[in-house]
Amino acid sequence: MEKREKLYEGKAKIIYATDEPDKVIAYYKDEATAFNAQKRELYQGKGVLNNKIASLFFELLKKHNIPTHYIKQLSDREMLVYKVEIIPVEVVVRNLATGSIVKRLGIPEKTEFKPPLIEFYLKNDELGDPIICYEHILAMNLAKPEEIETIKKLALKINEILSEFLKEKGILLVDFKLEFGRLPDGTIVLADEISPDTCRFWDLKTGERMDKDRFRLDLGDLTKYYEEVLKRLEGR
Ligand code: UDP
Repeated sequence: MEKREKLYEGKAKIIYATDEPDKVIAYYKDEATAFNAQKRELYQGKGVLNNKIASLFFELLKKHNIPTHYIKQLSDREMLVYKVEIIPVEVVVRNLATGSIVKRLGIPEKTEFKPPLIEFYLKNDELGDPIICYEHILAMNLAKPEEIETIKKLALKINEILSEFLKEKGILLVDFKLEFGRLPDGTIVLADEISPDTCRFWDLKTGERMDKDRFRLDLGDLTKYYEEVLKRLEGR
């Protein structure tokens, strides 16, 4: 496997081409951004932790027959993934109310969503990722009705698998963001990453935040908590 040119650089990852046209390398950076990249910070080693944590989650989902873009971990900061056409919709799954939904709708903090709530946001930094609905996705031709159905089913299944797994590790899965893509044959697969950058993890016992909220809310010790998440996931 040969690493070739940079194809795309995002806020937390860089995507490189390889000598195989259907595969790309995702490189995890140390940079953290929040509030539409108005707040930035470098956390030495964060990329390594997120690559390891995301690889572990993708392996777990594979065992449960969830289709993902993940192939294998290549190095500390790199994973090999199938090249997909990213659907520009961020899919957020919420088990408990916190963050933007509390501010936007006035729903009390920690309100439990049963069944879990699924929301869609348009992936567009210039517009600040606005919340959108099913009809907007169709009107903007971002995905077909059958694809949205598949995405919703997968998102709920992923929530079940991750919630149960994390609970055993003493971690509450509060909410998280997913991105999906299409393989060349049109199959919908989970893409991007699942990590403490894209999920809210609360310690089951203490309620302590073990995710990117440590950066958003200036709570400190971000890498220490990411390290603790990895340690628990690995059963160390
Ligand atoms: N999230 C994300 N990327 C985004 C926006 C949200 O990964 O661009 C994740 C976030 O980490 C949280 C969930 O999606 O786990 C819900 O985030 P929320 O809508 O509350 O927005 P926030 O207040 O985090 O900006």
